[in-house]
Amino acid sequence: MINTFLNMLFPETCPVCGGPARDHYTAPVCQGCWRKISPYQGPACRRCGKPLVSDVSTKCGECLQDEPFFTHAVSFGLYEGVLRKAIGLLKYHNVNRLSRPLSDIMLSVCMPSVDAVVPVPLHERRLRRREFNQSALLAKYLARSLGTSVILNCLVKIRDTTPQVGLRSHDRRKNLRNAFEVRRPDLIERKDIMLVDDVVTTGATVGECSRALKKAGAENIYVLTLAHGMME
Ligand SMILES: [Zn+2]
Ligand SMILES: [Zn+2]
Repeated sequence: MINTFLNMLFPETCPVCGGPARDHYTAPVCQGCWRKISPYQGPACRRCGKPLVSDVSTKCGECLQDEPFFTHAVSFGLYEGVLRKAIGLLKYHNVNRLSRPLSDIMLSVCMPSVDAVVPVPLHERRLRRREFNQSALLAKYLARSLGTSVILNCLVKIRDTTPQVGLRSHDRRKNLRNAFEVRRPDLIERKDIMLVDDVVTTGATVGECSRALKKAGAENIYVLTLAHGMME
């Protein structure tokens, strides 16, 4: 009933298929399109979550060569199709109410219980331009659903780095070195942390965030992201 009423007031067109979006929960994406969002079930690196071409090995080459600071990282799905579109709407078109259904699908990923949820931060300057940090919104809803707390403004980005797009894996890491800092180590110390981001590509960002959290005394860091993107 409430849905019907809201639709009369705010009729919406699904940005994926152009049809009407009647479900207010996933709007502006319609239910038919939303249902096409599915988890990735193929082989992946057990450490960093990177999709692998075969399940012969359990770890990717990079993790074998250079052990990450997080305990493990998992993505819900692949950065493609409706999921990619929904993340784009959340991130670049300020459709921040999508953070709720998107955080709900992240809950389907099996994760160990943690003491707190921490979002990957944006630099102040970028935050001002975008008005909100999409990862913080996801982290907030996740923490609420998991019955734990979210720690905001503790892990901060102190250097506004150049965009990562187009950089190779090694250069991405170099670009981000010392870009993150923990302002209140007392909030992090000896805690198991769930680090949250929307999209992970090479893992350089979550890797550097984990380095900062570890340095501040965090126990285990489990990275949870919505989607795994491929290098373009
Ligand atoms: Zn649709
Ligand atoms: Zn890996």
